[in-house]
Amino acid sequence: MSLDLLAIAAHPDDVEQSCGGALIKMAGMGYRTGVLDLTAGDMGTRGTPEQRLAEAQVAGKLMLLRERQNLHFPDARLENTISARMTLAMKIREMQPRVVILPYWEARHPDHYRAAELGYEACFLAGLKKLDEYSGPHRPYKIIYSSLYANVTPSFVVDISAQFERRMAALLSYQSQYGAAADGQALFPQEQGIRERLGAIARFYGNLIGVRYGEPFVVKETMRVDDLVTLGVRTL
Ligand SMILES: [Zn+2]
Repeated sequence: MSLDLLAIAAHPDDVEQSCGGALIKMAGMGYRTGVLDLTAGDMGTRGTPEQRLAEAQVAGKLMLLRERQNLHFPDARLENTISARMTLAMKIREMQPRVVILPYWEARHPDHYRAAELGYEACFLAGLKKLDEYSGPHRPYKIIYSSLYANVTPSFVVDISAQFERRMAALLSYQSQYGAAADGQALFPQEQGIRERLGAIARFYGNLIGVRYGEPFVVKETMRVDDLVTLGVRTL
């Protein structure tokens, strides 16, 4: 398997909220896309890990992913251990992504910033020839960080106006989380609330680049520009 773009996230339904639109858009352009969820959400208030895994597959189909896998690391207590880094590095060698999307490295939920650190270090390890004699080295060319929940100025925003509804449908595949079940209801805004919240966020980022809906990303390297004349986003 060789992917063009792989998103690594802490929990099933993280990518649907943060970078699903960009994944759908890239798949629509013919790129091979995938998602690797690190935990199955076993500490979640609602639903079982089995339900969430099944829902993640449905959402993955809606997002046009070639591949979606789950590493079953412990939810809510994700740790950047050598065994977790090695497991993830071996998976990266197998999936061979050119570009990796990680969560932004500062976050409220510890799993999210740990996933960023773990993902970065595993990408580095995956490139070491001597890491493992049975698999070839692979180092992703580029790491980009999904910064939707980080409240930082993005390096760039992807126009997801045409993908927003499909991303919304993918998120709502998680019936155990967003359906009308009774337990823990106060914690989980229902569909209308979710639609309003995610719509407002996507609208905010879209507005930054003069489109309806957008998803923000941060890169650590400087963005290169070759053509000044076709630069997007109007000044006046
Ligand atoms: Zn999460």
